[in-house]
Amino acid sequence: MDVSDLIFAPAVASLPIDGSSQRFPIARVFCLGRNYHWGATSSEPRSFPLFFMKPASSVVEAVGEVEYPPQTNEFCHEIELVVAIGTDGFRISPHQALEHVWGYAAGLDMTRRDLQMAAKAVGQPWEAAKAFDGSAPITAIVPVSRIGHPQQGAVWLSVNGVERQRSDLDAQIWSVAEVVSQLSQSVRLKAGDLIMTGTPPGVDALLPGDVITAEIEGVARLQVKVGARQPA
Ligand code: MN
Repeated sequence: MDVSDLIFAPAVASLPIDGSSQRFPIARVFCLGRNYHWGATSSEPRSFPLFFMKPASSVVEAVGEVEYPPQTNEFCHEIELVVAIGTDGFRISPHQALEHVWGYAAGLDMTRRDLQMAAKAVGQPWEAAKAFDGSAPITAIVPVSRIGHPQQGAVWLSVNGVERQRSDLDAQIWSVAEVVSQLSQSVRLKAGDLIMTGTPPGVDALLPGDVITAEIEGVARLQVKVGARQPA
């Protein structure tokens, strides 16, 4: 494919909509930094966490195999509640924020953690760690009209049947309404934007052949297998 194909038939990244033959078009993918307490330090400041982005093209359906990316020896899983924005908004108030949410999904913020640590150490941006091809496996979008706005429910992830991450949506430091409101102070949110809302503790590295099973209770469950490493 080259750009002349795209001019006549724009390739819009999209995800299936659960229970429908239609698809949800993806505008942008925002990701939140720390949104659960990690470890014993319960006195973390309530300042809004940093956000970063992945390209829409990094989204893949969370089925089958996920690619083991190049240039890493520490390919890590992060299970996250994904918020799908249905209505544009700027400077949205917390009370009105949920009206802008069209649906939810379960997603994996896949991370080349060795590259993230190297970038953090020298104050560089995180794209190499976070924005690679296939770095956002996400389930079908489940409409709010079906499940409402889940406020609690287990968030867990296991690898080869061994649990590695477990928390609950009610342990999120920033609620979905607060996240949508806060993010919309910084950017104009657009229909089709996705927000990955942060991961609980237990992030760890994966090996080729590992099977990841994960769930946001009340939203969706996923299972994917980690593919082979790229040949050297
Ligand atoms: Mn994350």
